[in-house]
Amino acid sequence: MIKTVTVCGSGVLGGQIAYQCAFHGFKVQVYDISEEALTRGRTQLEGLPAHFQRDLGAAPEQTAAGLARLSYHTDLAQAVQGADLVIEAVPENLDIKREFYRQLAAVAAPHTIFATNSSTLLPSDIAQATGRPDRFLALHFANRIWRNNTAEVMGSPATSPEVFGQIVEFAAQIGMVPLPLYKEQPGYILNSLLVPWLSAALDLVVRDVADPHTVDRTWMIATGAPLGPFATYDVIGLTTAYNVNQAKAAAGDPRGAAGAAYLKDRIDRGLLGMATGEGFYTY
Ligand code: NAD
Repeated sequence: MIKTVTVCGSGVLGGQIAYQCAFHGFKVQVYDISEEALTRGRTQLEGLPAHFQRDLGAAPEQTAAGLARLSYHTDLAQAVQGADLVIEAVPENLDIKREFYRQLAAVAAPHTIFATNSSTLLPSDIAQATGRPDRFLALHFANRIWRNNTAEVMGSPATSPEVFGQIVEFAAQIGMVPLPLYKEQPGYILNSLLVPWLSAALDLVVRDVADPHTVDRTWMIATGAPLGPFATYDVIGLTTAYNVNQAKAAAGDPRGAAGAAYLKDRIDRGLLGMATGEGFYTY
């Protein structure tokens, strides 16, 4: 049974995951690589109770009790002491992740389950470095996890079905909707659907078939969806979308190059989306 959780990496997602677990009653040990990084993470994390109160109607006593269940560490051995589960949210870089898991494997108890929040890597890319492939899998959250409460659970072929089941159960215990995948899939379920949809929309505009608002209206009226693809670009931010198109261009996809050029022109004009108050729409 999972009682104590260690979250490694206290950045944007790590902080949210740590507080989500603590809010739901788990003892949580937060680890980061330096005092400076940990202080930055802790400051960001301590801003989360206000969101839980505003967005979920949580009572101040409830959010304070969540904060009281957290402890902060820069010593990895100390941070994982007594942990039943380690959730890793360190930077999205294969070398950093593998090195981190090698260090973790040396200090964690044999029963501890390891879960990665990686958005783009597969568990089997990292499994060997964990030293316990049967007790390792991906548990993938979406940004602003208290509201966007999806938890995609994805194992490698080596993950034990029992461990997989325990993590599905744990995800529900921390207020997420567990979404089990039967096999490894780059981009999980959400990005496997979202990225091609966004690319198809951009292609229609780049080839001058229709303008962004017409594309959005078509989608929204015909499907009843609350947002079209270009409003979704505004939510995600154009820089991320540009990076995705650049990567496609680098892999030889001409649609990626055309999409990147179109997005770069908008980025240069400061039309980054919701974050800057103006994108395809004004906020
Ligand atoms: P971030 O840059 O905000 O945070 C990363 C944290 O890891 C920093 O606090 C950094 O100091 C720390 N760190 C660096 N090296 C470390 C090490 N060796 N050991 C421990 N900590 C270390 O990044 P993020 O956006 O929180 O992303 C973290 C992970 O979560 C990535 O794998 C990313 O793909 C995934 N993710 C991010 C989002 C998102 O919207 N940001 C959504 C889902 C999943």
